[in-house]
Amino acid sequence: MALTLPELPFAKDALEPHMSANTLGFHHDKHHNAYVINYNKLVDGTDLAGKELVEVLKLVEKDASKAGIFNNGAQVWNHTFFWNSLKPNGGGVPTGKLGELIARDFGSYEKFREAFVAAATTQFGSGWAWLVSVNGKLEVRKSGNAATPVTEAGVKPLLVLDVWEHAYYLDHQNLRPRYIQTFLDKLANWEFASGNL
Ligand code: FE
Repeated sequence: MALTLPELPFAKDALEPHMSANTLGFHHDKHHNAYVINYNKLVDGTDLAGKELVEVLKLVEKDASKAGIFNNGAQVWNHTFFWNSLKPNGGGVPTGKLGELIARDFGSYEKFREAFVAAATTQFGSGWAWLVSVNGKLEVRKSGNAATPVTEAGVKPLLVLDVWEHAYYLDHQNLRPRYIQTFLDKLANWEFASGNL
């Protein structure tokens, strides 16, 4: 079964003014779609074609000859996870079980925020900033290019921020820190992150 581009889980203008319909038009309809098309082309006719995406990622991750399959496939998975990590009127301090775990494992929401901002800011070049659960303990991670924690044993992704320039350049130009603050204050979908616990 070939992959298909998933619909955004919100209207294209629903995140304005924090993330514009113009950004989402390029990011979802062009970039994410291109990863889907490229992945399908690369696995078509191979023994990977019928396999579930994360299973394929685990199989090809260490195989340099299949880097194209990993990169496009991981970008498909990461972007779908990213759209779900956003919501209108999101952001702020998470409550409930997730809020308690953040306080337990980082010391406070402010400490978590410092760690997340640092990871997202210092990811050199293209990549991702993550909140993950590692065998039940919350951690902040960063990953370069298409790399994804979903292939790691014991690691459960909870929330992600895309820090590729295509994610923020139209709305924030070169100001990645402003984009990161906007995500944390206005867009982060803590209900989605809680559901992934
Ligand atoms: Fe992206």
